[in-house]
Amino acid sequence: MSDLFIGGAWSPAATGRSFPTLNPADGTVITTCAEAGPADVDRAVGAAREAADAWAAHPEHLRARLLWRVADLIEANAEELAELESRDSGQLLGVAREVSVPGTAEHFRYFAGWCTKIQGAVLPVAFPDTLHYTRREPVGVCALITPWNFPLMIAAWKLAPALACGNTVIIKPAEQTPLSTVRLVELMSEAGFPPGVVNLLTGGPGTGRALAAHPGVDKISFTGSTEVGRSLVSAAAGGLKRLTLELGGKAPSIIAADADLDAAVAGNLTGALFHSGQVCAAYARFYVDRERADEFTEKMAAGAAALRIGPGDDPASRLGPLVSEEHLRSVDAHVRGAVYEGADLVGGGRRVDRPGFFYEPAVFAGVTDDMAIAREEVFGPVIPVLAYDDPDELVARANALEYGLAASIWTRDLSTAHRLAARIRAGAIFINMIHVPDAATTWGGYKASGWGREMGPYAIDAYTEVKGVWTHLGPGSR
Ligand code: NAD
Repeated sequence: MSDLFIGGAWSPAATGRSFPTLNPADGTVITTCAEAGPADVDRAVGAAREAADAWAAHPEHLRARLLWRVADLIEANAEELAELESRDSGQLLGVAREVSVPGTAEHFRYFAGWCTKIQGAVLPVAFPDTLHYTRREPVGVCALITPWNFPLMIAAWKLAPALACGNTVIIKPAEQTPLSTVRLVELMSEAGFPPGVVNLLTGGPGTGRALAAHPGVDKISFTGSTEVGRSLVSAAAGGLKRLTLELGGKAPSIIAADADLDAAVAGNLTGALFHSGQVCAAYARFYVDRERADEFTEKMAAGAAALRIGPGDDPASRLGPLVSEEHLRSVDAHVRGAVYEGADLVGGGRRVDRPGFFYEPAVFAGVTDDMAIAREEVFGPVIPVLAYDDPDELVARANALEYGLAASIWTRDLSTAHRLAARIRAGAIFINMIHVPDAATTWGGYKASGWGREMGPYAIDAYTEVKGVWTHLGPGSR
């Protein structure tokens, strides 16, 4: 049983309630976690508020040291964190070891570097005899709400910049995968953050709702579904809370006639099926030049069928389980719907007959733009192939959905690549490569894929307020 972390101490939920977290590889209960209710939310927000002024005034170089220490502790406990992440979320152990854990440590290091470089500017205002400068100040108490697909990394995407900018935080991980965040918060406590600077609430949508609605929260940073993101706009409206939203996606991948097809197949298999497709930037609709569509589909189907499906801790596994029974049913319903609408299921598309939540990747040919499988986010191992005849249609087709998180382009022609990159409305474009996040650059969505940006200097904008300071210098000062 894991507790809540509020004001520097671990305690059970005020209601005494808890919820189980399962191993998606076999459906068994790993452990239970305290389910925070309104009284716990109130206590956590109170603790964060009480700690806010002192933390905002904490010297920047000492803030940096704390963040750096967290990165060191993550590395010192890397194997334990990787095993926990794999067991709780179904992530392949190799992915947890090589991507999630190092990516988390790297995020803390990157933002440790920022602590001493968050600057204002002296601006040449038109008013005579006036000195004007800007300051970047913390927003205050930040509610950080994360999803289940990459729990550890996404927690770091929020915790590291929020703390670097001098905010206090309350983090609420997804109810399906809380364990790596609980362990991360233990390590942060060991690193020596003052009480109340970092608080943890575990729980489900009700906990998230209560946290987002609390009047003592100054900013909500949310990663999750577009549907919940929309509801947070309303939650933030009353108090005009600051809001960053990283939401759903349905990334188009364009495979031009001149693409290196084998490289495109290898890249798109990973782009579509990394973490069993449970990736917001996953390549999820494939526009292929009609001349090459059959070849691409056959190779994708053969490649997908060759991937060994199995538990995350089996080194031979190439595809792990989906996160839950509920999610598996949702993926399967999308697949059945596509068959019903007339798409041609070329391979896969059914549950694997074994305990846990395993699903064979589905490859579809003959998909048209009006089918749900080409429009809706599935967030699973599904590859719908759509043919195109004229490259001029591509921009309109790629931009037709409400999503705009990522897109991918496979071509040998630089003009095609960069013309499309400029015209596709998405937060990240990957040319001849798979989707990757990097602490140093931007992450976020156009349209219904989000508001604001995380990572890089953009995260500093997201977690600071800018203040202008004016001083009248008196006459004759020039
Ligand atoms: P979700 O929206 O169901 O839940 C996300 C988090 O919000 C969880 O912690 C959940 O408990 C909480 N929550 C649920 N309802 C809430 C409410 N009404 N108020 C406050 N909090 C609430 O999303 P999910 O199923 O965990 O994650 C999958 C979704 O996340 C997909 O749509 C995916 O595209 C998106 N995602 C986006 C990014 C990105 O960077 N843009 C990254 C990962 C996942």
